[in-house]
Amino acid sequence: MKCPRCVQELHNGIGQCPHCGFSLAYLDAQFGEDAVVLERLTDAVDCIQPEMQQRIEDALDQFEKQFPQLFIAIYAGALPELTDIRQFAFWLLNRATVPSLDNSRPNENGALFVLDLNSMSVSMTLGYFIEPYFSDHELLTLLRQGHPDLQSGDYGSALLGILGNFSKLLKGKSKAARKGQYGGSSSNSSASAVHRSSADQTQFTGKALNRETTAQTL
Ligand SMILES: [Zn+2]
Repeated sequence: MKCPRCVQELHNGIGQCPHCGFSLAYLDAQFGEDAVVLERLTDAVDCIQPEMQQRIEDALDQFEKQFPQLFIAIYAGALPELTDIRQFAFWLLNRATVPSLDNSRPNENGALFVLDLNSMSVSMTLGYFIEPYFSDHELLTLLRQGHPDLQSGDYGSALLGILGNFSKLLKGKSKAARKGQYGGSSSNSSASAVHRSSADQTQFTGKALNRETTAQTL
């Protein structure tokens, strides 16, 4: 798992990043510490047409059938200026309650896509349980596959495409896992706050605004 602030490698379950001092409390101070109720698909800015929303819901149903322990949640919104999408996504996955899901799918078994129309970025944060199966490179590749649709403003198609590719990739990985290629994933979180996350983000505008190098000057 990587620190969502300094992106250095952390040991699972650590409460505070030894490199930069980051902790979930830091994000709670920014975004709030109460549980947030989240739909599987939250379109806070009405950027996805109803017909497309339905197709995404269907794809999510399909995903949950295919992976009975896992879930995907999608948040599309316009985050406040200078919000770090990676940190926001990390916070949201830690604090979100998705009422439509049953208890067999805790947040560490979730994947959260965040689409931010303000910074024109998309990010993907994986729960503790799924995280070991994906490399950063795979996540970035996955997100980049959605760029053409994102750039043309077809957010629904982009999400649908990313979702489909993610499922496909995960299916291959779960097969490999059953054959024992991944060994024991260490989802043994301690009581500390920072449980789930690995995050990756890509920006789909042509402008080279690199939040990772500009935003973190605390
Ligand atoms: Zn850090």
